[in-house]
Amino acid sequence: MSQFQQALPELGNQYDDDRVLRSYLARVLPADVLSEVHESLAEMGHLAGGELYDLQLADRLNEPTLTQWDAWGNRIDKIELTPLWRVAEGIAAEHGLVATAYEQKYGSLSRVHQCALAYLFTPSTDIYSCPLAMTDGAARTLLNSGNQGLIDRAVPHLITRDPKEFWTAGQWMTELTGGSDVGLSETIAKSEPGSNAFRLYGRKWFTSAIGSQMALTLARPEGNPPGGRGLALFYIETRDEHGRPRNIQINRLKDKLGTRKVPTAELTLDGTPAQLVKGSVDGVRNIAPLLNITRLWNGISAVSLMRRGLALSFDYATKRTAFGAPLSEKPLHVDTLATLQAEFEAAFQLAFYVAELTGKSETREISDEEALLLRLLTPIMKLTTGKQAVMVASEVLESFGGAGYVEDTGLPVLLRDSQVLPIWEGTTNVLALDTLRALQSDGDAQQGLRRFEAAVMSCVEGVNDSKLVNVVRAALDHAASWLANAEGDAVEAGARRFSLTLGRTIELALLIKHAQWSLDRQAIDSVRRFASVGVDHIF
Ligand SMILES: Cc1cc2nc3c(=O)[nH]c(=O)nc-3n(C[C@H](O)[C@H](O)[C@H](O)COP(=O)(O)OP(=O)(O)OC[C@H]3O[C@@H](n4cnc5c(N)ncnc54)[C@H](O)[C@@H]3O)c2cc1C
Repeated sequence: MSQFQQALPELGNQYDDDRVLRSYLARVLPADVLSEVHESLAEMGHLAGGELYDLQLADRLNEPTLTQWDAWGNRIDKIELTPLWRVAEGIAAEHGLVATAYEQKYGSLSRVHQCALAYLFTPSTDIYSCPLAMTDGAARTLLNSGNQGLIDRAVPHLITRDPKEFWTAGQWMTELTGGSDVGLSETIAKSEPGSNAFRLYGRKWFTSAIGSQMALTLARPEGNPPGGRGLALFYIETRDEHGRPRNIQINRLKDKLGTRKVPTAELTLDGTPAQLVKGSVDGVRNIAPLLNITRLWNGISAVSLMRRGLALSFDYATKRTAFGAPLSEKPLHVDTLATLQAEFEAAFQLAFYVAELTGKSETREISDEEALLLRLLTPIMKLTTGKQAVMVASEVLESFGGAGYVEDTGLPVLLRDSQVLPIWEGTTNVLALDTLRALQSDGDAQQGLRRFEAAVMSCVEGVNDSKLVNVVRAALDHAASWLANAEGDAVEAGARRFSLTLGRTIELALLIKHAQWSLDRQAIDSVRRFASVGVDHIF
C-alpha cells in the first residue's frame, strides 16, 4: 500500500497574494486613497481565501430549490438558496459590493474600488456576482431614468450596507422567441384603467437570481408597434408583503451546465403588477445602462475566475512532484502557466480600464471622446475577456492533471462557471456586431477606429521596445485596412475576428503601459508572452 499523500492546493489572503491587483491599484489610486481602501480589500482577500472558500467547498453539492406547492395545495413558488449564497448576500451588503460604487467616497475611483472588492469576492461565492451585477445595473438604470418615485422606493434598498434592508434585482429580458433578438418579445403590458399602473402577461425564459425582491423587465404596452422600439421598460416588485409571488409563476429552475448556485427560472407573468420606468416605448434603449454595468461585472468575473484558477494552480505546482522535482521546477509546466498568467494579466488590465471609464462616466468627469471610447470598449472588453476565461479555465484544469477533472477538488466548477461568461449579457457574436455599431456612434466608423487607435497608442507612448510597439501598430493597421475594405456580408462575417483583435490589441497596449510603469520583471515577461501569442485574429 502506498503511503503517499498528495498535499492539496491552498489559498492565502487573496488580496495580499495578488501581485497584479496590488500593482495595478498602486498605479491608478492616489497614495491616500490606496491606504484607505487597503483594509477593506485585505479583509475581503482574507474572507475569499479563508472562511468563504471553506464554505464554498463545503457547499459544493448544494443547489437552490423551488417548492411550487405547500402541503395544503397552495401555490407558493418558494426559492431556497444554498448556505453559501445566504452568507454571501450578507457579506455583499455589509462590505458594500454594490454600495461602494454609489457612495462615491473616492469619486470616479470608487468604481475601481468596488470592482476590486467584486474581483476578490466573486470566485469564492459561486457567482453571487450575478445578482449583484443586476442589482448594481438596476440602481444605475433607475438613477439614470429620473423616475423619482421609483428612485426613492428602490434605490436605497439596492445600495444599502444593511443586510436587513438589502434588495437584489433581477433583469428579465430573454423570452423563448429570443435573447439576442429581444425585439421579438411577446410579453404584453395592459394598462390598469384610471391609473398609471400596468399588468404584464407573458413568459420569461431565463430569469436569474429569481430570489430578488425587484426586477426590471421589458413588455409591449398594448397597441405599441412590433420590434425593440415598441417595448417599454417596467419595474416589478416580485413578492407581496406575505412573501407570495405577485401573479408570477415560477415554472421551473433551469438545469444548467454551470452557475448552479444561481437560481435561473422560467416564469409566467399572469397579470403581474408593474410600473413604467421611463416612457412607454424604447425599453431596449432605456435598459442599456443596466447592460453596461452587467457587462462590466462580467469582465471582472472573467478575470477573477482566471485569477482563482491560477492561484490554485501555482500553489499546486509547488506541491506536486513528477519526474523527480516539483512541477514548479519543470520548465515546460512553468512556461505553460506563465502563458496563462499573461492572458489573465492582459484581461485584467482591460476589465479594470473599463471600470475606470465607467467611474468617470458616473461622476460626469468623462470627456466626450472618453464616453465614445467607453461605449466601444464595453462590448469589446466583455467579449474578449469572456473567451479568455474559458480558455484559461480549461488549461487550469489540465494543469492539475486528472485531479482537475474530479468534482470534489472544487476545480471543474471553474470551467463550467466560466462558460457562461461568453453567453449571457450578449454572446460573442452579438457583441461583435455591437462593436461595429459602437464604432459608428458618431456616424463615422473610420473616425471611431481612429479614436480607438489614439487611445491604444497613448498607452505605448515613450516605450522604447520597438518590437512590442510594432505588434500593436501592425494589429491596428490590419484592423484599419480590414474595416476600410470589407464589404457587404464580409463585414458581419468578420466582426468577431475584428472585435477580438481590437480587444487583444488594447489589452497588449495596457499591459505595456503597466509594465513600463511598474518595471516589474514578471509584468514585463507577461507582456512579451502575450505579444508572442498574438493579438491579431483578422484574416
Ligand atoms: C445561466 C444563464 C442565465 C441567464 N440569465 C438571464 C437573465 O437573468 N435575464 C435574461 O434576460 N436573460 C438571461 N439569460 C439569457 C441570455 O442572456 C441569452 O441566452 C443570450 O442573450 C442569448 O440568447 P438566446 O439564448 O435566445 O440565443 P440566440 O439569440 O438564439 O442565439 C443563438 C446563437 O446565435 C448567435 N446569433 C444571434 N444573432 C446573431 C447575429 N445577428 N449574427 C450572428 N450570430 C448571431 C448567438 O451568438 C448564439 O451563438 C441567461 C442565460 C444563461 C445561460
